[in-house]
Amino acid sequence: MEKVTENVYTNTKIRGCNPSIVLTTDGAVFIDTAQLITPLLEMRNFALKHGKIKALINTESHIDHIFGNHWFAGECPVIGHEKLSNTFWKIPEAFNMSTYDYSLDIIKRQDPEGLPFMPKKEDYIINPPSITFSDKMTFKSGNHTFKLHYTPGHSDANISIFVPEERVVFVGDTVFSNCQIWFHTCDPDALLSSLRFLSTLDVDYIIPGHGPVVDKTYLKYQAGFIYEWLSAVAYGIAKGWSKEECIKNISFADRCPVDIGQEDAMEYVQSANVSVIYDYLTKV
Ligand SMILES: [Zn+2]
Repeated sequence: MEKVTENVYTNTKIRGCNPSIVLTTDGAVFIDTAQLITPLLEMRNFALKHGKIKALINTESHIDHIFGNHWFAGECPVIGHEKLSNTFWKIPEAFNMSTYDYSLDIIKRQDPEGLPFMPKKEDYIINPPSITFSDKMTFKSGNHTFKLHYTPGHSDANISIFVPEERVVFVGDTVFSNCQIWFHTCDPDALLSSLRFLSTLDVDYIIPGHGPVVDKTYLKYQAGFIYEWLSAVAYGIAKGWSKEECIKNISFADRCPVDIGQEDAMEYVQSANVSVIYDYLTKV
């Protein structure tokens, strides 16, 4: 784990999202959970050494952010956006397997040491948010304030968590730092608007959903990369290319890697991104 500020820890070097912890005087607040069991249990043990676990906040419903919710069932409230329930514990149809089997396959291949701790299918507890909100929500834990904001775009249920005492904002997959952006469930207008909102916050650290911790200057690069994707597909449409031709001709695979452990998803990310942007640009 990486110590970001006095009380903020994150884990940017594992497959899946960047699960994070804020240590407060009234217990640890988790932001998302690891997709691999070994680091998940390490993070839980670390938090429990400092007291109880006060809450778990999910920034979105994608499986790499919520798989670990099982290990928090019955222990603390889970908080997230009200739209999370529509897509919770669902994976893209293209993956062609159940969410449990998909998760098990990842543990087998990428976390064999964690395999003995994987519950059986019938014992796995999905544990979706029990506390939800629509636009904003604020709560205190000890001396810390958690300001939750609805920041849709990457999906329709993304939120960001601003902790002013630490000058940190956890933005989930609204930011992919130095790795491929996934547009597979994206609304580009909402995403760009959420990036503009994040740029108004008074913070020193942005903890992204994937990739290294960055500061606010990264927001303009992220927006620039999104505009670049939009322009590339718009160019194809203007040339008269079909969606299939756009998928065949457009790729940003050479720009940056997919986040750690997901190298085999590069082709899926490129084609899904083109497909979603093509639909967005051609809808009338
Ligand atoms: Zn995501």
